[in-house]
Amino acid sequence: MLIQAAAMANLGTETAFDVLARAQALAAQGRDIINLGIGQPDFRTPDHIVEAGVKALRDGHHGYTPAGGIPALRQAVAADLADRQGVTVDPDDVVIMPGGKVTMWFAILMFGQPGAEILYPNPGFPIYESAIRFTGATPVPVRLTEENGFAFSADEVLAQITPRTRLLIINSPANPTGGVVPKAELDRLAAGLERFPHVAVLSDEIYSRILYDGQEHSCFLSYPALRDRVILLDGWSKTYAMTGWRLGWSVWPKALREAATRLAVNSHSCVNASAQYAGIAALQGPQDAVASMCAAFAERRRVVVDSLNRLPGVRCVEPGGAFYAFPNISGTGLSSKELQTRLLDDCGVATIAGTSFGAMGEGFLRLSYANSVENIERAVARMAEALPELV
Ligand code: PLP
Repeated sequence: MLIQAAAMANLGTETAFDVLARAQALAAQGRDIINLGIGQPDFRTPDHIVEAGVKALRDGHHGYTPAGGIPALRQAVAADLADRQGVTVDPDDVVIMPGGKVTMWFAILMFGQPGAEILYPNPGFPIYESAIRFTGATPVPVRLTEENGFAFSADEVLAQITPRTRLLIINSPANPTGGVVPKAELDRLAAGLERFPHVAVLSDEIYSRILYDGQEHSCFLSYPALRDRVILLDGWSKTYAMTGWRLGWSVWPKALREAATRLAVNSHSCVNASAQYAGIAALQGPQDAVASMCAAFAERRRVVVDSLNRLPGVRCVEPGGAFYAFPNISGTGLSSKELQTRLLDDCGVATIAGTSFGAMGEGFLRLSYANSVENIERAVARMAEALPELV
């Protein structure tokens, strides 16, 4: 009999991939499935970025690159952070990753072990809790509530810090809620963290460019007093519709960048070279595609929020960023999981139960509006038809 390592039993998953598989299986049986489950832009990667990737392959960039990424790309990331976010970083502290998810794993592996506590948002991206549990560390949920627009209160976060806290994970704009933490609250958190020099911060800013109503993104690297312990996670996946390229960037405090690179050498060696060249083109080329994708998401947000709020037993706060709506469905009388199953099986609409993002997501459903207005309208119309029978 094969005996897996005990830690494997602690590893969770990302339900979005299971729902995607089920939706695809139903579609293969001829069912008309509308997918509001998976969180990826439905746009193509802009042509000039694709061309740069193809050119890199034609030019013979077929080999390993430095583990932390090609220097030109790390410089491009540093220049982009300076131009767009007003933060100065040393290109040597930038580590290119095969997606933002790997930055998350590396940060959690670096600090997680039995006895350590790691604070993470709940509801939040499910891999935080999965990775924390895998390391044997204790996951400490930072509760996000609808009343607060799914933004944390700095005081509540700070009150949860103990001498055993090793890492605090924050995520704004957030998955699955679309919540955006106001700059004033980030300022308060940063000021409060000065009292706890033993706590590192992983700031997941993968949705930094998908913000609505003219909001500006606040990068958590912008607090000089914390620069020796903030790890930045960002990347190309969501901003440039590049989820399948597997490309992300991270910025590490000087004292940690060698450890991050060593983890890279031990796991993936380096990110595939052509994707890295495409990444340079994305950062340095025209940004109009980013603006038009955001404008499309803004229009869809309006449609999805308005129509959800007309459904019986459902209410939905307006998300400030990302491309997710996180309606409260407790008025339907169904659990999140039951509603997710009924919507997919009975109505052909793929959504994700709030509980897939942590226990505190019970009573909520995540709908990704990275889909056309037409499909969103069709999906909500199907829900409107089915819900009165369920409520
Ligand atoms: N962080 C959050 C909050 C996400 O929602 C996702 C992807 O859905 C990631 C990180 C991972 O992004 P990537 O595809 O670049 O690994």
